[in-house]
Parts: sequence; C-alpha cells; structure tokens
Amino acid sequence: ECLVFGSLNLDLVATTPRLPQPGETITGDRFSMVPGGKGANQAVAAARLGVSTAIVGRVGGDNFAEILVESLQSAEVQTDRLLKDPAIGSGVAMITVEQSGENTIAVIPGANGRVDETDVDRLAEVLPTAKVLLLQLEIPLAAVEAAARRAKQAGVTVILDPAPARSDLPDSLYPLLEWITPNETEASQLTGIRVHDLETARQAAMELCRRGVGRAIVKLGAKGVVCCREDEAIAIPAFPVEAVDTVAAGDAFNGAIAAAIVRSFSLKDTLIYGAAAGALSATKAGAQPSLPDRPTLEAFLRK
Ligand code: ADP
Repeated sequence: ECLVFGSLNLDLVATTPRLPQPGETITGDRFSMVPGGKGANQAVAAARLGVSTAIVGRVGGDNFAEILVESLQSAEVQTDRLLKDPAIGSGVAMITVEQSGENTIAVIPGANGRVDETDVDRLAEVLPTAKVLLLQLEIPLAAVEAAARRAKQAGVTVILDPAPARSDLPDSLYPLLEWITPNETEASQLTGIRVHDLETARQAAMELCRRGVGRAIVKLGAKGVVCCREDEAIAIPAFPVEAVDTVAAGDAFNGAIAAAIVRSFSLKDTLIYGAAAGALSATKAGAQPSLPDRPTLEAFLRK
C-alpha cells in the first residue's frame, strides 16, 4: 500500500578524534557500514510501523548491493522491483564524524544517479495497488517528476521530501504533490524566505500551498512542525526527548506520515504520529537502526 521511489546508499562511517585537514592522515577510532539513503530509510520507517511497503530504485553491481537489499528485507520492505545495474556501483556516503559530533559527508550517487523512465515504468505497474508514494531528491529530478505525474493520474497520494535542498524545482511539480515536507534549510531554498521560527515556517508553507501543493509541512527539528492547508495553519510542538543523533529524524517523520495516511488518520493525528517517530529516531544513533517500530511508537504516544 506504501510505495517508495528513491535512493539507497551505504553509509561508510569513520569515527575520529577530530576531522582530518586537507592533506592530513589521522588514525580513527571506529568504522561502521550502515544502510541509508533517504528512499531506503523512508521505506524502512513505514514498514516498521506495520504498513505493507515496497521500494523501486537501483542498486549497483557491487557487493554493497547485497547489504542494502538485505537490510530492507529484514525490515520486511519488498525489494523485487529494485534493479541491479551492473554498469556502476551502489550509492555510497563517505562520512567522517569527530568526537564533538561535527561531520563531513561525501555522497556518490552511483546507481541512484541512473534512475530513469524505465524505473518509472516499473513503478507504474504497482501504482494501482498503492495508496501513498514517498519521493525524495536523491535520484534525478526528471524521474521524480515523472513518478509524481503517474502516481497522481493513478489516484495515489504523493509525498515529496525535497531533500537534499535545492532551489530549482519546476513549477509544474508542485500541483502533483498532495504533501511536501521540507526542513528549515529546504523550505528556505525553495521559497527564498529565511525560515528560522514558527512564523517564517508558516509563511514558507503558505507559499508552497500557493504554488499548488495540497499540504505543506515545515519540519523544525526540536521546534516541532508547522502545516498549512489552503488558508489554515497548524503547529505541533516537538516531543521533548534526549536527542543523541538526529540523522534520519526527517525520514522517520515521512515514513510515519505515510503510515498514518494509509490508516486514514486525521491531519492532526498524522502530524503527531510523524513528530513522535522523528523524536524517537533522534534518541538513537544511525539511520535505519534508529527508526521506531509500531509497538514502540504507540507506547510512546500513550505516555
Ligand atoms: P530533517 O531530518 O529532515 O532535517 P528534522 O530534524 O526537522 O528533519 O526532524 C523531523 C521531525 O522529527 C521534527 O519536525 C520533529 O518532529 C522530530 N525531531 C527532530 N529532532 C528532534 C528533537 N531533537 N527533539 C524532538 N523531536 C525532534
């Protein structure tokens, strides 16, 4: 019922006492490989919340592909519509994190960068049985727009997470979106409004609705979320938690609102479900390992 059309990356994470300077070699403390990529993360987020979820996209012809696919399968995400592209490697993020938490990241899109119309055709085959489609911007924009158009034609609710940030989305994309979910940086880039608090977030969300989006949510981290629909705006405060690592908090939020939409929650309950998932993921390290399951999320909401 939930479809994701997007990226899969393997995060190669080096933990070091401090970030190396240009030309410098330093000895690090730890290394880990963690499955990530916004598409894969959002698919795992929705599936952990008990919604039947499938992903469409590409992995490379390397050994990393197995790791990426296995991680999705262990979360019960359906992977039979992933294409193995032998001509290129899987998407990779090279991450260095120093003790203070400061990091540097280089992303190599690999197979994600080659997603095209043929992948949209594979997606279209499963649209008739779907209720929601989750999109992000880690695959080529032309494929994102084509997918949104096909989904809207099929009556599927389209949610775009406009991440990573860019300022050049075509005007023709907005009317295809039932939901758009930028964070502060992304909302600023899209609208030119410097978003830093609830009021500027509301202004940016209104502007996105004016461009044709059904509902615009601006995610403000520990300041919560603001959502606009037509002329109406609502704000939901963040749940107070001890945040250790906000990586994938946004992906947890998007997977959770997709699950809420599949279950036909009200707008307010959808936002609360998303905010609770984002807060819980901020209390745990890593991308996919930090995403909450349904019993954990529902117990948190009952407290
Ligand atoms: P992104 O990861 O896309 O930048 P955010 O950091 O805004 O998105 O996180 C998405 C949502 O997760 C927030 O709107 C909020 O509801 C929740 N969240 C994120 N960080 C925290 C935090 N430190 N405390 C409580 N909730 C948080």
